[in-house]
Amino acid sequence: MSLTVEQTKERNQALIKEVLDVYPDKTAKRRAKHLGTFEEGKSDCGVKSNVKSIPGVMTIRGCAYAGSKGVVWGPIKDMIHISHGPVGCGQYSWASRRNYYIGTTGIDTFVTMQFTSDFQEKDIVFGGDKKLEKIIDEIQDLFPLNHGITVQSECPIGLIGDDIEAVSKKKSKEYDGKTIVPVRCEGFRGVSQSLGHHIANDSIRDWVFDKAGDKHPEFKSTPYDVAIIGDYNIGGDAWSSRILLEEMGLRVIAQWSGDGSLAELENTPKAKLNVLHCYRSMNYISRHLEEKYGVPWVEYNFFGPTKIAESLRTIASYFDDKIKEGAERVIAKYQPLMQAVIDKYRPRLEGKKVMLFVGGLRPRHVIGAYEDLGMEIVGTGYEFGHNDDYQRTTHYVKDGTLIYDDVTGYEFEKFVEAIQPDLVGSGIKEKYVFQKMGVPFRQMHSWDYSGPYHGYDGFAIFARDMDMAINNPVWGLTKTPWKKAV
Ligand code: SF4
Repeated sequence: MSLTVEQTKERNQALIKEVLDVYPDKTAKRRAKHLGTFEEGKSDCGVKSNVKSIPGVMTIRGCAYAGSKGVVWGPIKDMIHISHGPVGCGQYSWASRRNYYIGTTGIDTFVTMQFTSDFQEKDIVFGGDKKLEKIIDEIQDLFPLNHGITVQSECPIGLIGDDIEAVSKKKSKEYDGKTIVPVRCEGFRGVSQSLGHHIANDSIRDWVFDKAGDKHPEFKSTPYDVAIIGDYNIGGDAWSSRILLEEMGLRVIAQWSGDGSLAELENTPKAKLNVLHCYRSMNYISRHLEEKYGVPWVEYNFFGPTKIAESLRTIASYFDDKIKEGAERVIAKYQPLMQAVIDKYRPRLEGKKVMLFVGGLRPRHVIGAYEDLGMEIVGTGYEFGHNDDYQRTTHYVKDGTLIYDDVTGYEFEKFVEAIQPDLVGSGIKEKYVFQKMGVPFRQMHSWDYSGPYHGYDGFAIFARDMDMAINNPVWGLTKTPWKKAV
């Protein structure tokens, strides 16, 4: 039996109280601020965000190094990104985000390789600057076609006070002004991976834009040049987005950073418009490009046909009639394909309830795609969102949706057990917990090794994957704990 909005709100409040009752008083008081129910008409979701997690509660967050190396810098394909410090940080974050790229790995592209300075005890005691110099020399010998190097600091680098800026400057001079970027993204900085995104954005500003000058005077601008910002090409997302922009008549001069190159970063100030997908991880550089170079930026959402059409029209509104007509042509061209996808999957997915817990833009942006398939989001939350993310979320969620910021492992399990959604969309750390509970699950960070999910091509794959997860006959062979109890 489905609940009314008022009943849903009451149920959610009781549920929040129930999970908080288990905590010590101080913890309960702190966590209470991060849990709530969305009230229609409010300007935010009523939860506190972007504050330190409580030790011991099993947060799902990552660290600043993960935000810089794993998200922003790692996908730049023609540069070599050194995980600077002990081996584990690089090893466990190795290629895990499936940032697809074109190139010959180990020759002119390096995304799926792991470069680490593999710190040992003596490096911690005596410092690692000499080792870093040696590694840069080795990289130049072994991979002479690399276009630049970044130094991604792990925790010990800041703790022992290594001067990676001095090493980077020295080596850059030695190698004819090569771009070598020291990134102070030690994992302990900030409260989550979010500060790592910001630090990485700032390092592009300071060590790419401010130092590069115009390295590409041969570049010829057109009135239709745009840069895709904040698409990491997971499973090919940026490619399925780029073709739509190109089909409507725009020229994509840069992809930040999935399948992107150093030259694309350097040319971005020449764009006429920056189109921003992941606001959280790249709003900083978009604002900088607007303030310093006068390039406007606009957010878009390429999940599901409803939001794609809205976004194509919004992007087109920055250009002339040729592009506006191009947007309409693209929307009309893909409409029959989208209708066929909806006709096939909506009857199988209609009314199914989904709970999400993801990072970046997805806790809100994917909602439209689920709704295109007749599904309903009953709970959502951000790993590392800020208040401006929760404000943006109000445009997507319905009255009474359960909201949980930086949800703990315990809270998430309790919420899912009580609400019993038909699908949970979250990350690898949650996947097996819920599947063992008998709940269909999709990884909404990595698309569960599938994708792309962006663009019209991506929606067809998204719909198929959600159907495969929910209507998989395997669920009939297992029982959820609550069903056993009945
Ligand atoms: S918190 Fe520090 S040690 Fe842990 S993964 Fe991040 S950089 Fe490495």
